[in-house]
Amino acid sequence: MNDPLLPEDFSSNPLDDDKLREECGVFGIIGKESAAAMAALGLHALQHRGQEAAGIVSFDGEQFHSHHALGHVGENFSAESIISRMIGPAAIGHTRYATTGETALRNVQPLFADFDFGGFAVAHNGNLTNAYSLRKQLVKRGCLFRSTTDTEVIIHLIAMARTGSIVDRFISALRHIEGAYSLVALAKNMIIGARDPYGVRPLVLGKLDDVTYVLASETCALDIIGADFVRDIEPGEIVVLDGKTVQSFHPFAPAPSKFCIFEYIYFARPDSSVEGRSVYEMRKNIGVELAKESPIEADIIVPVPDSGTPSAIGYAEESGIPFDLGIIRNHYVGRTFIQPTDRIRHLGVKLKHNANRRFIEGKRVILVDDSIVRGTTSTKIVEMVRAAGAKEVHMRISSPPTKHSCFYGIDTPQPEKLLAHNYTVEQMGRFIGADSLAFISLDGLYRAMGETKRQAGMPQYCDACFSGDYPISLTDLNANENQGVLSFLAKAGE
Ligand code: SF4
Repeated sequence: MNDPLLPEDFSSNPLDDDKLREECGVFGIIGKESAAAMAALGLHALQHRGQEAAGIVSFDGEQFHSHHALGHVGENFSAESIISRMIGPAAIGHTRYATTGETALRNVQPLFADFDFGGFAVAHNGNLTNAYSLRKQLVKRGCLFRSTTDTEVIIHLIAMARTGSIVDRFISALRHIEGAYSLVALAKNMIIGARDPYGVRPLVLGKLDDVTYVLASETCALDIIGADFVRDIEPGEIVVLDGKTVQSFHPFAPAPSKFCIFEYIYFARPDSSVEGRSVYEMRKNIGVELAKESPIEADIIVPVPDSGTPSAIGYAEESGIPFDLGIIRNHYVGRTFIQPTDRIRHLGVKLKHNANRRFIEGKRVILVDDSIVRGTTSTKIVEMVRAAGAKEVHMRISSPPTKHSCFYGIDTPQPEKLLAHNYTVEQMGRFIGADSLAFISLDGLYRAMGETKRQAGMPQYCDACFSGDYPISLTDLNANENQGVLSFLAKAGE
């Protein structure tokens, strides 16, 4: 599009759906033979939280077994030959979306290390905001890092805490780290779960039968193995599961809860419950608020599939305008389709979405989507709907404008690549070619969550990518440390 507002970097992969990406999902289980097979199922349910790599570590009472691979869970953990050698009644797993740096096997979690007390594996959802600073200190003290993930500092901090039980040493390590983390760890005959004091990322406890306990990023991973939801792990809580009991520790000073509000908007699966709330219901509520805040006359409400659907239903219910699937998504276009020819590049978004022409032609259409990141996909969707004969195309977004980067475990472009960082809503509307564009307000979002409004100065959730109010110290960023370069190479002169 030839527009003076066009950001310079507009040459994205046409198969990139221009969404922010959750970086990881974690799963742990103890008390069930073939725990690794259960972990594989759990990770399969968490596949939306990371599609580039997965790993499982199991413990059989004497030995640890592991398998790590690049690619989807189903591709790597459905073979009998792999699962059958990962024996034992305890296992943890991780599914990962790599952000900066390499998608190398050495970065695939769970990370494993041999300590004086035996083997220990850990898997992490989130992002540590002081990892680079800690890493430099640890390297100076003689630690040799084998990966480029922030999570490895936890392994070295456990090694540095030389005395106490495994749990004591784990807690000692956590006292040094800052940022967002939901962790599962596996040691001899126990799994450990931990959530950072602000509880930014989710972690739930489930129970399969009297002696089988499960930890998972989301409840949909409990459902797939038939486990019952017990409760959310609390912010700042450490739980130790030995197959018979659940021990709970609260070793940190209490902090205000700052759960990631974007989990409700987009990241979590709509069939999951988070902090006692149905994600699907929250998304519908957001659609209702959006319709109240930004009504417009139209003939049809069309969700941008799949993530725009629940909010579009809410918008339709509130507005009384008919809802229809005016865009159909092809679910078989995967990330493996990575080197399009010029011809395919030209086809762009049509590889993934197609307008359902009969329901759109001649109509005033309201499109509902969950977010606009760089604006690339929105532009193509609007264009496609117009080409299918729509008389008017209005876009409604179920998040506030994404103006700031996330440092707590969501892959976000640099602020200058975010459309909302650079332009007003009106300019963004022109950019994507819509007749009108509106986002839900921050207060509207909080109302959809059941709050009367956002408490300025002490918001009830983390909403930093919308507001710029970062609840947890950005230590590396403030020290001008490059969090994206957690490499083996120290800077010259250090
Ligand atoms: S900055 Fe945004 S995406 Fe990141 S944790 Fe906060 S609300 Fe979630």
